[in-house]
This record gives sequence, structure tokens and C-alpha cells, in this order.
Amino acid sequence: MQELKDLAGVIGLATWDQETYLPRKAEGARASQLATLQGLYHERLVEPALGDWLQSARGLPLDEQAMVRVLTEERDRAVKVPARLVKELAEAQSLAIAAWKEAREKNAFERFRPHLERLLALRREQADAIGHGGERYDALLDNYEPGMKVERLTPVLQQLRQKLTPIVEAICAAPPPPDVFQGQRFAPDAQWTFTLELLGKMGFDLDAGRQDKSVHPFTGGTHPRDVRLTTRIQESTPLPAIYGAIHEGGHGLYEQGFAEGHFRTPIAAAPSMGLHESQSRLWENVVGRSLAFWQQLFPRLQQLFPDALGKVSLHDWHRAVNRVERSFIRVEADEVTYNLHVVLRYELELELLRGNLPVAELPGAWNAKMQSMLGVSPPNATLGVLQDIHWAWGEFGYFPTYALGNLYAASLFGAACREVPGLEAAISRGELAPLRDWLRERVHGEGFRYYAEDLVKKVTGKGLTDEDFITYLRTKYSALYGVKL
Ligand code: ZN
Repeated sequence: MQELKDLAGVIGLATWDQETYLPRKAEGARASQLATLQGLYHERLVEPALGDWLQSARGLPLDEQAMVRVLTEERDRAVKVPARLVKELAEAQSLAIAAWKEAREKNAFERFRPHLERLLALRREQADAIGHGGERYDALLDNYEPGMKVERLTPVLQQLRQKLTPIVEAICAAPPPPDVFQGQRFAPDAQWTFTLELLGKMGFDLDAGRQDKSVHPFTGGTHPRDVRLTTRIQESTPLPAIYGAIHEGGHGLYEQGFAEGHFRTPIAAAPSMGLHESQSRLWENVVGRSLAFWQQLFPRLQQLFPDALGKVSLHDWHRAVNRVERSFIRVEADEVTYNLHVVLRYELELELLRGNLPVAELPGAWNAKMQSMLGVSPPNATLGVLQDIHWAWGEFGYFPTYALGNLYAASLFGAACREVPGLEAAISRGELAPLRDWLRERVHGEGFRYYAEDLVKKVTGKGLTDEDFITYLRTKYSALYGVKL
């Protein structure tokens, strides 16, 4: 168990380095180093002796039982998928990534189509090897969101979609906030300084982690005492750096918050991608785009950028960081429209995997759904069906975890407000420790003792629901946009 975790840590380090500092000419060498390490990890995981030990483990204390459960589930999946299929998937992925990049550049879906078809066929085969109760998507979803099922997820996302549509319509009919960034420049050094100050305030321990720059921000690392975040800096607006740092900082606090007694075990982990994302979205949106948060921090930001922001009011800044619009690109979408982008992908993935939607008809289906759900239709495939890398990786079942993260974030923050007296007042004084400490105690420190929804239920009193999220949006945006929601 400990050796597996150590190997995973070194794989994490090599992967982090690949995305940050690796010299270009070392790419090939790193790919083979990683393949060797992953091979070792797999060998250790499927070793028959490990299976025997796991099966014979009886009468253990609760934490150890959870360790056995988590490792058994991971091992079962690894044992069930034949080595031949793993190899075919890896080869198909690298070919598909190359084709996807070219298709995006040339705006030519046809270049990518045969690769997507091949990946879907392999994933169906993988789902069948793992086993499922008639819905292949469940077997894939389980990779990212253990315990979640299509049967549970679909009605929640359908209802969310129905509630969001009129909210988006009402907000988009109101006058948009002023553009405070137009024609401004934000010095990269000052942006970097501010992001480190933010991480410090959130309680991210820079002696047990670090921040660097990468094209796509992410959280990685080797151990809860070595958590690596990245952000990106753009001179024309400080928002990508600020919200990249807060988002990854939320993931980072989760990784640093596992209980010391769980280190080097399978339960020093989040129970799902959705719950991990709930922590990044809670800090990024619920806290980081709130008026309370900026009351104390905006004057500091003005101090760092006196020319660009000296004359901007707190009110206009708050509106500027909460601009809602119907847009094509998911990763740039605001928190109101964001989940619609996710539901769209989820519905399409389900139909693709079930074989009800031929890949050749995917671009048309994408555009039609964009039109009906978001009221816009992308002018080309690059701004539409080709925008995300996930399908080129052959990752089906990943997208819904983003929506789960948003829903869980609102519910968890609601519970924090009920349990921590004066929480919002503390945030407006720039004191973020009470929230961090509450999350550490109630969520992070639990590790993977429970499945995600069970843990949320334990903390909030209810499981997966859109109610807290919708109430949060209605309260916040009716005030910001002066509309009745
Ligand atoms: Zn994230």
C-alpha cells in the first residue's frame, strides 16, 4: 500500500515537471520514463499476493477497512481489463490527441472522427470488461466518481438544466456590467505577488507545496506535504492568474488537508473528482467572487495596480468578476452558464456510448444543443465540438464531475455558514482560516473513508441536490443584475 503510494508520488512529480520545467528535447525520454513507472505500478497492483492479502483482511478497525475497500476496488478494475486493451487504448489515445490538435487547427472534425470512433469502441470494450448493470457509462463514470450512477445523475442534471435556462435568460436580458479591463495592462510580477498573497491567506502552506506557471493550470505533487499548483498570467487581465491560483489553491488545500495517519495509504485521497472540484469551485466562485471577499482584498489589488484599477469602485469590480454571458467555450464560462456546458456534454456522451448517436452526426448534435440550451451556435467546430481535450483522451464520464463539484460546493458552503458563527463577516475582514479549518475538519481530513455523496450527506444532512446551488445563484445574481430570479 505504501509502496504503491510512493510510486504514484514519483509519477506525480515526473508529470508535474513535464508540464512546467522539462526541456523540450527531453519529451521522448520522459514519456518512456513515465511508461516504465506506470508499468511498475500496475505490476505491483495486480500481484496475486496483494489480492490474497486484501481478501483475507478481516476484523479491521474502520480506517483500515476503508483502505482495503479502496485498494480492492482499484485492483479489481486493473485486473479485469486485459493488458492488450490497456495497450490499445494508450496507442489510440496518442494518435487521437495528435489528430485532435490538427483537426482544431484546421477546423476539420473529419480528421478527428475515425479516432473518436476507435476510442469509443475501446471504451465500450473496457466498460464490458469491468462489468455494469446494462449501462456502460456507469463503468466509466466510476473511474472519476466512484459510487455514482447514470440513474442517479440524469434526473439531477435534467432538473438543473430546467432551472438554469430561465435564470440565464433573465440575467442576459439585463444590461451587462462595465468592462473594467479594456485597454489596461497588469504587470506580471505584481500579479504573481498577489496570487502568492492569496494562497497565504487561504492557508495554503508554501512550506509543504509551491506554485509555478503552466499553460493550463493544474494541481499535482507527490504527497500531502508536497503539493504543486500552477497558474497562468495574462497581461491584459489579472483574472486568469487570480482565479487560477484560487481554484488550484482550493484543490491544494484538499491535498494538504488529509489526516497524517492516512499518509501513504489509499484513503489519503478525495473520494471523487466531483468532491475535489467542489473545493476548488467553493474557493474560486462562492468565496472568491463574493463581495465579502473583495471588501478587504480589492484595496490591496488597487495598490498593486494603481493605474489600471485606482479609479474602479469595489461595486464595479464585484460586478466585473461576475459577468454572465452566453459563450461557446466551457473553460471560460461564468458560474451561471457553466453547468449547461456540462449537461450538454453529458447528454452527448451518453448517446455516443449507447450507440444512439453516430460520431459523424456529433458536430450537428452539438450545435443544435448549444442553440437550445445556451442560445448560441458555434460558427465552427474549433469553437464547438473540438474545444475540449477530454474526448481526445478517450475520457467519457469525466465532464459530469464538474457539475457535481458546483452543486456540492454550494451545499458545503451552506453548511459551513450554519455551523461557523460569523463566517461571512470573518471573510469580509480577510480572515479565511475559519472556513479553511472547518473544511479541513469536515471534508479534507476524512480522506476516502466514505463515497463522495455519503460524505456530503454526513456533513450537510442531504446528498446530491441542486437546491443550495440554485438558491445561491438566485440570491447573488438578482442583487448583482437587479433582476427578479
Ligand atoms: Zn479543478
